[in-house]
Amino acid sequence: MSVHMNRDNDVFAINNFRSYLRINTAQPGAQYGPCVDFLEFHARQLRLRLEKLEIVSGKIIVLMKWLGTEPDLPAILLNSHMDVTRVFDEWDNDPYSVVRGGEDRVYARGAQDSKCVGMQYLEAVRRLKLANKRLKRTIYITFMPDAEIGGLDGMYKFVHSPHFAKLNIGYALDAGMATPDDDITVFFGERCFWNVRIHCPGDLGDGSLILANSAGEKMTRVLKKFFTFRLEEMQKLKDNPEWTLANVVTMNLTKIEGGPDLNNMLKSEFVLIFDCRIPLERQNIEDFHTTMVQWCRDISGDIRIDYLAKEQQVPHTQLNDKYWRAIKYEVRGFDLEIHSEVFPGRTDRRHLREIGVPVVGFSPIIRTLPLLHDSDEHIDIENFLQGIRIYYFLLSRMGNLP
Ligand SMILES: [Zn+2]
Repeated sequence: MSVHMNRDNDVFAINNFRSYLRINTAQPGAQYGPCVDFLEFHARQLRLRLEKLEIVSGKIIVLMKWLGTEPDLPAILLNSHMDVTRVFDEWDNDPYSVVRGGEDRVYARGAQDSKCVGMQYLEAVRRLKLANKRLKRTIYITFMPDAEIGGLDGMYKFVHSPHFAKLNIGYALDAGMATPDDDITVFFGERCFWNVRIHCPGDLGDGSLILANSAGEKMTRVLKKFFTFRLEEMQKLKDNPEWTLANVVTMNLTKIEGGPDLNNMLKSEFVLIFDCRIPLERQNIEDFHTTMVQWCRDISGDIRIDYLAKEQQVPHTQLNDKYWRAIKYEVRGFDLEIHSEVFPGRTDRRHLREIGVPVVGFSPIIRTLPLLHDSDEHIDIENFLQGIRIYYFLLSRMGNLP
């Protein structure tokens, strides 16, 4: 029996996976120490060179290296993140105890996002080594901190470090999302994230007055305009069954601020904060800024827009090269269909794309409800094991591309 099908290896991989899931790395305030120790132990077992990069204090980036036989070829990066999102109630068990699910299934925070792929990468490399395979290209395996909170102290700092430039990464793989059917979804792009602030000024005055120039009136009209647009986007999503969230502009009011902080005073200003995600396909995103400015101007000349965050338009990863063909070939070899989409949320991949590294996200988890950030996040053991085999063959192919 080959090493990628061996029962002992499977048990070993499942145990490692369970141990990794038991390490609580929940945001906010994720503590990485025990997680890094765990990964360091495994890197040593696998004889992979490990570096701990601490660009920001406490935010350790774990970088493992498997040297290729032709190390001048561009390397392959296998990325996942150590942190997980916090848990809200409604779990049947402690999400870090990994006691539920028995032989067939693992319930735990991080089971899908993204501790599964982290362990699958390591196990695939271990099995390649057991089979005495050497790959031409160098393989790097990274475990990132803070991916769940924007990656500014993790992947962002990493890709802009002198260290990263030396790695010569040709292509990167990252986690994606489970799919309810037999298709594996590969994510090749993201929408742009803007955190928009709309300042609606008005005349200060006592709460007993009825002033014409009131911040509340302007705010109401801004809300009406923005929410009408939101409804139109919702309708477009309904009218186009092939669309996903990633095809529409989402615009959500996430906060209202205003002052002075007195309940019996008219406000000198209300500030509306919107979370906006803009698909690159729909428009040049700067046009969207112009559109919003125009909406505000139509209401009142003194309404002002600024940004808490305003991401640039980062091109998607093109799906037309030899790496992409390798991914398609190997995934289809498992009788799985492959399907490509823009990711609805934000991930560390955008930091890689920003500096021109092609990267796709996918998790080989099929026939499973996508439950990232949700209650009762789980993965079937059979799925987890199949994922290891997929990476085993995929790495053999990608790592040997000329
Ligand atoms: Zn996540």
